[in-house]
Amino acid sequence: MTSAGMVWDTHVHLERYGERAPSLVGESVSAGVGRLVAVSMDLASSERTAALAASFPGVVLPAYGFHPEQPLPDAAALEALFAWMEARAERGERFAVGEVGLPYYSRQEAAEAGRAFDEAPYLALLDRFVAFAARRGLPIALHAVYEDAGKACDALERHGAARAHFHWFKGDDETLARIVRGGWYVSFTPDCLYDPETRPLLARVPLERMLAETDGPWPFEGPYAGRETHPAMTADVARAIAAAKGLPEDTVVETLARNARRCYE
Ligand SMILES: [Zn+2]
Repeated sequence: MTSAGMVWDTHVHLERYGERAPSLVGESVSAGVGRLVAVSMDLASSERTAALAASFPGVVLPAYGFHPEQPLPDAAALEALFAWMEARAERGERFAVGEVGLPYYSRQEAAEAGRAFDEAPYLALLDRFVAFAARRGLPIALHAVYEDAGKACDALERHGAARAHFHWFKGDDETLARIVRGGWYVSFTPDCLYDPETRPLLARVPLERMLAETDGPWPFEGPYAGRETHPAMTADVARAIAAAKGLPEDTVVETLARNARRCYE
């Protein structure tokens, strides 16, 4: 099979593997992974991702941004990140915006601890990332789960963002229908093999809107307990989708690869 017909790992924190990252990329290519969308946490992380993407052109597609599940940086740091991204876009570099989104888990933690949590600056930052992606015609990798997915849809619709990926989606049917209408994508991690909350989603999401990812090095459980998370695990995700949909594995692999190209290339 050509690389065009292979499953991608559409969301992996490659730079967080440290010195292991280059060999992980090599193994992924040998294992038949088409491409890796390498997402970033902040400016320093984006710089490390950019260096990895430069080492593996055509294999590692970089995504730059600020992960929402952490305290916000000051205004100067945010300006530095946007200036850095603008300059790269201006030079014609092909990249995605991500990982960006909303701090669902931080908000939950604050609520459980009885602490106040101001979501407004996170919503404003997401709006700015979506506006940037839409203006530059770049894909955007979103961390926006449960009710936050609807807020991300608001931003995408407001700015007419054509290409968006709700990574490790969790949410209701109404939001899912909205994502499908928008022409956007949702991805599945290896947890779809064993997690009782994720498994039913395999039937609810149309194949044409699905992507596979690992979110590595995030560790998985079930059959993956104690194992390093590897982009090659996306082949298992494709198999799980094929089983859930009652479709041949080849069809699923080809469709997932086509979806990834449409979203990210
Ligand atoms: Zn992630």
